[in-house]
Amino acid sequence: MIAVFGKASDRIDLGYFETRYCEKCQQKRPFHWFLHYLYIHIFFLFGAVVKKQYYLTCKNCETIVSDLPMADVVNSARIPFLRRCGLILWIIIILAILVPGLIKEYQAILG
Ligand SMILES: [Zn+2]
Repeated sequence: MIAVFGKASDRIDLGYFETRYCEKCQQKRPFHWFLHYLYIHIFFLFGAVVKKQYYLTCKNCETIVSDLPMADVVNSARIPFLRRCGLILWIIIILAILVPGLIKEYQAILG
């Protein structure tokens, strides 16, 4: 059976933040903000983001630093458009197809 609906996750490197000491690497390393997001989708194309989390991560070993506030982090505009707003687009397309037909049928019933 073909999966029409589903969920998936991805992450985006938001770029360098600072150089700091990494416990795992045991030396100073560059840390980057990463945006991890979970999205639902229809036909793997039309999606909607349902969860976002920001992590400050060691670029070398990917150790996550969780004790920092998430302020100053950029918005989610870098998430691909169809993953952010695809579900809304899909609903608009379905309504654009169905509504004129329903109106035409309704008018035919009323005579
Ligand atoms: Zn590290």
